[in-house]
Amino acid sequence: MQNMSDGELFVLCKKYGGEAIKWRRKFVALLPEVEKRRLWEKHNFYSIEHFAKVVGGLSENIVYQVLHLDKKLEGKPLLKEQIAKQGWAKVKAVAAIPVEEKEAVKMVEILPKKTLEIFARSLDSQVKNDVICPGAKLQHITFKLDPQTHFQLKKFQQKLEKECKKPIPLGLVLKELLKLAPQGSAQGGSRIPAKQKRELHKKYKGKCAIKRCKNPVTEFHHTKRFAKYGTHEGVTPLCHEHHQLAHAGLIENEHDDPKDWRFRKEMRPSVIDRKYLKNLQMANGP
Ligand SMILES: [Zn+2]
Ligand SMILES: [Zn+2]
Repeated sequence: MQNMSDGELFVLCKKYGGEAIKWRRKFVALLPEVEKRRLWEKHNFYSIEHFAKVVGGLSENIVYQVLHLDKKLEGKPLLKEQIAKQGWAKVKAVAAIPVEEKEAVKMVEILPKKTLEIFARSLDSQVKNDVICPGAKLQHITFKLDPQTHFQLKKFQQKLEKECKKPIPLGLVLKELLKLAPQGSAQGGSRIPAKQKRELHKKYKGKCAIKRCKNPVTEFHHTKRFAKYGTHEGVTPLCHEHHQLAHAGLIENEHDDPKDWRFRKEMRPSVIDRKYLKNLQMANGP
């Protein structure tokens, strides 16, 4: 081993470490079945904890957490399967998010544990906030339209409703239309000007722009993806985890003011976001 170069030693560490994590997850995932059959008793162990410690080198706490998680995942076989693949801690994090099981599986495969935990908290405080002030602030506006524009607006509404498979009020139809309207010209370069960054820092007091998030800003996010729009308009300072959630397509109304942002329960990443998520998944490792 002394003859090994630093590089070779590192490669070996990553290989053995990665394998160790993989096999440990598989072992952990067997425990609920071991407990169900009381297999430990048949082999003269004092308890499931004793069994897990001797056979797999696990701590009591992990055994407790895994059995507890297994109960919580009753009726969710797809998510249970993920314990062997993604590890119990990550599955525990996603189990706290009230979304469809299939969606939860997608999230656990793509997003890191800490991001999942922050998403659960963000959704939770959103629900609490909804109880305090239900409904968005909408205003009634009446105006006259010529028949031609009315017809076109209705047509666009039908198109949107077909896409979303639900009724869309005319107010929202107009909002979507305004998003399509060109606003200003593209600026050169993908780097955000330092002046804009300074101003954003000041505006948000160095914190993530998400309501109730106390994390410091670590990234500047293009709500209008630079690759598509070529502008720094709408750039928003975010913490690392909320930035990942934005690129997971989990923010419903990114083009609104960040203080009005709402999280949805389904990942809808754009083509550009998918590239981001792919890199993220690769960086996460096993
Ligand atoms: Zn971004
Ligand atoms: Zn944040």
